[in-house]
Order: sequence, then structure tokens, then C-alpha cells
Amino acid sequence: MSETRNLPVQKSIALVAHDKKKDELLEWALENKEILKAHNLIATGTTGKLIKEKLGLPVTKFLSGPLGGDQQIGSMVAESKLDFLVFFWDPLEAQPHDSDVKALQRLAVAWNILLAPNKTTADFILHSTFMSKPHQIAIPDYSKY
Ligand code: PGA
Repeated sequence: MSETRNLPVQKSIALVAHDKKKDELLEWALENKEILKAHNLIATGTTGKLIKEKLGLPVTKFLSGPLGGDQQIGSMVAESKLDFLVFFWDPLEAQPHDSDVKALQRLAVAWNILLAPNKTTADFILHSTFMSKPHQIAIPDYSKY
């Protein structure tokens, strides 16, 4: 039987966007500022700097994504410290840190957390009634792999 953990009311949400997706993420965050401010925000370096400047919300900033920020967020996922990853990755441009980009998304799936790769998914998740309540999720059991 797999273990579970509680996503609290105040969720830890990581915001990450590739360069050509940063405007879209900022616009989404601005539209949803009132909801986002009730949560604990984390971001990769450049995305976090922009969120802080444009929205004035407190954000825990890690290193820039290509310099290790994606991996720092990945370590939060692996330690069950992140609840929701909003990652607007660019489907039309190769990234020098492609392996980190894939690793972060892989961990989000492996640990069964919320993952939004685009605005539509992010909207549906953020506006779900589950967002404002504690919610139990399964921590997959990989011990028999
Ligand atoms: P950045 O990193 O916010 O520092 O630009 C994003 C990414 O992972 O590419």
C-alpha cells in the first residue's frame, strides 16, 4: 500500500518559465495574484526576479534554471516539499539544460504532484476547489521496482 501525504491549504507552488514563455507566466500570475498570494511561492532565479518586480509578491528564489535552479526545485519535489509545479516550458526552442528540464518534470510525475505545463492547465488547477482545502495525495511506492 502506498503512503500518503497532505497538501496543506497553503500550498508550495513553484513558478518556472523559459525565456519566451516568461511574459505568459507573468500575465497568468498577475491575473491570479489574489489566489497566489495565499500560497508559498518558489521560483527559478530569473522567473522569481520578474515575479517579485511585477507582482510584488514574496518569492523564494533559487538559482537560474540552467545554473541549477531546476535541480533545486527537483530536490524539493523529491523531499515532498513542493505541492504544485507551474512550468511553462518552451516547445519550440532547444534548451542548453534540457536534461534538467526533463528531470524536473519527471520527478513531478514520479512523486505525483500537481504539474501545469501551460496556462490552461494552470488555470484549471488553480481554480479547482481542491486548491483551497487540504488534500491527501498518494506517495507512490517504488520499493518493489
Ligand atoms: P530562469 O530559469 O527562471 O532562471 O530563467 C528557467 C528555466 O528553468 O529555464
